[in-house]
Amino acid sequence: MAARIIDGRQIAHEVRGEVAVRAGALVQVGVTPGLAVVLVGDDPASAVYVRSKTQAAREAAVAVFDHRLPATTSQRDLEALVDRLNQDPAVDGILVQLPLPPVLDSRAILERIRPEKDVDGFHPVNVGKLWSGGRGFVPCTPLGVMRLMASVDTPLSGADAVVVGRSNIVGKPMAALLMAADATVTVCHSRTRDLAERIARADIVVAAIGRAAMIRGDWIKTGATVIDVGMNRVDGRWMGDVEFAAAAERARALTPVPGGVGPMTIAMLLSNTVDSAENRRVE
Ligand code: NDP
Repeated sequence: MAARIIDGRQIAHEVRGEVAVRAGALVQVGVTPGLAVVLVGDDPASAVYVRSKTQAAREAAVAVFDHRLPATTSQRDLEALVDRLNQDPAVDGILVQLPLPPVLDSRAILERIRPEKDVDGFHPVNVGKLWSGGRGFVPCTPLGVMRLMASVDTPLSGADAVVVGRSNIVGKPMAALLMAADATVTVCHSRTRDLAERIARADIVVAAIGRAAMIRGDWIKTGATVIDVGMNRVDGRWMGDVEFAAAAERARALTPVPGGVGPMTIAMLLSNTVDSAENRRVE
C-alpha cells in the first residue's frame, strides 16, 4: 500500500490564504490584526523561527511589532514590555519566543500575557479551557496537526490514537484535541514500556519526540495515519522521528519532514492572531 503524502506546505498555503482574506476584511473595517513578537537574546534557531513568523505575518496582512531584546534583559524589564503589549490596542497577539535565556522565569512571563492575546495558547487559562471544553487559544503545532489529519479525512471518532511525547507545547495539547474529537488516546513518553506494541495498535500516530527515525516503519499498523512532528538535524539534513520510507509502505497517509507539520505551525499562529482580532471587533 502506498501512503498518501500529506503536503503540509500546500495546506499551510491554503490556511495562510484564508487568513489573508479574513485579515483583509478586518482592515476594511479599520482593524489591522497585530502580532507582537518578542525575541530575547541571540539564539540562532530562535532568530530563524522569528524571521519566518514575521515574514509570513506580513504576507498575510498582519502587522508585526518586532521586539528584540538583549540576552541581559531583566525579568522586570521583560515583564514591563509584556504589560505594555497587554495594554496596546493595536496588539492582538503576543508571542514570546522560547526558550528564554535561563536566568529568566519563562513561566512567569507566559502567565503575564493576557489570555485573550495568548495566541500561542500556553497561558494556564487557555490550557484549562482546552482540557475543560472551553473556547480559548490552542497551541499552534497540534492545531496544525488536526488540520493535516482532516485534509486526508482521517476518521477520529473511536480511533485509537497514540501520541508520543508529553510536552506542554505539543504532546499534551495534542492529546487533548484528539480526545475532544472522540479518539481513544494513549500518551507515551520516555518511560513508556512496549512503545512498539502500542504503536502497532494505533490508527493514528503523532510523533513528537525529537529523536531521528526512532519510530520504526515496521511498527506502524497497516492503514494508520502518521503525523511526524519531530525536527532533527542529521548530517546537515532535517529528519523526522519516524522512519519515513518504511512507514510509507504501511501507512494510509503520513507527513514528510520537512514540509509536513512545520509550515502549519506558523499558519496556525496567524490564524489564532486573526481570531483574536475578530474577537476584538466583536467586543
Ligand atoms: P520535548 O523535548 O519537550 O518533549 C519530547 C518528548 O519526547 C518528551 O515527552 C519525552 O519524554 C519524549 N521522549 C523522549 N525520548 C523518548 C523515547 N525514547 N521514547 C518515547 N518518548 C520519548 O520536545 P517538544 O515536544 O518541544 O518537541 C518534540 C519534537 O517536535 C522536537 O523534535 C521538536 O523540534 C519538534 N517540534 C516541531 C515543531 C514544528 O513546528 N514542526 C514545533 C514544536 C516542536 P519525557 O517527558 O519522559 O522526557
